[in-house]
Amino acid sequence: MFDKRFRDTVRLGKMIRKGDLVAVALSGGKDSLVLLHSLVRLSRDLPFSIVAISIDEGVKGYRTPLIRTAAKECKKLSVEHIVLSFRKEIGTDFDTIFRKKKKTPCSYCGTIRRYLLNKAVKEAKADRLATGHNLDDVAQTFLMNLIRNGPLRIGGESGHGLFVIRPLMKMPEKEVRLYAELTGVPVSTRRCPYAGYAFRNHARSIVSETEERYPGTLFRMSAAIASIKEAVKRKNKNSNVRNCKKCGSPTRSKECRMCSFLSSL
Ligand code: SF4
Ligand code: ZN
Repeated sequence: MFDKRFRDTVRLGKMIRKGDLVAVALSGGKDSLVLLHSLVRLSRDLPFSIVAISIDEGVKGYRTPLIRTAAKECKKLSVEHIVLSFRKEIGTDFDTIFRKKKKTPCSYCGTIRRYLLNKAVKEAKADRLATGHNLDDVAQTFLMNLIRNGPLRIGGESGHGLFVIRPLMKMPEKEVRLYAELTGVPVSTRRCPYAGYAFRNHARSIVSETEERYPGTLFRMSAAIASIKEAVKRKNKNSNVRNCKKCGSPTRSKECRMCSFLSSL
């Protein structure tokens, strides 16, 4: 059932074309590893190539073992694995950044991680960036965008002109975990020490409590997102995207988030 839903999501969403190079954002967590395994299996029927990209934020005791697992799985599946680190690319690791930016660490970490991921995707000349976001993640992100008044992001705006696909977007987190356990995909219980600061935690508890009380909430939210996504995409097209005055990336302000974060550091 899981494999069928995965294939249907990719096919109906026209996520991958024959001959594409798909870059997989590989954190080393169960979602991205299930995504990698499922894409490798799919690539045996629909010819496309895969490259995996991991970003090492430099969070002591957290990311290194996950990247080690990611590297092992890539080797097993014969997938090229690219690793970019904060330390090498921006000259500092996240533990150091955290000492200066304690209030909203995940917003800094996430922006830098996305920037590096985009950079690696462009350097690898990949056609698609596949992320391991599952149905719970998608519902949480939707809620977070509503609460933070970020409606334009609902349309799936990546901000960097990349074609981002989320083949696990119809899979509840519980099913991804079960699938991983049944198929021998490593499941890590490690948690980032800064995760407690994330606004996502709040959205996660709202979504999972609602799902528990009103089963089917996740799927209903997914249907609601799909129906308003197109309208938001049309609006996105008409909005004012310009180039960052420092790095040239697409942005809605004078300076992109990455550049303003870097200068504030
Ligand atoms: Fe970065 Fe926050 Fe994720 Fe930790 S939980 S890796 S700080 S985004
Ligand atoms: Zn910039």
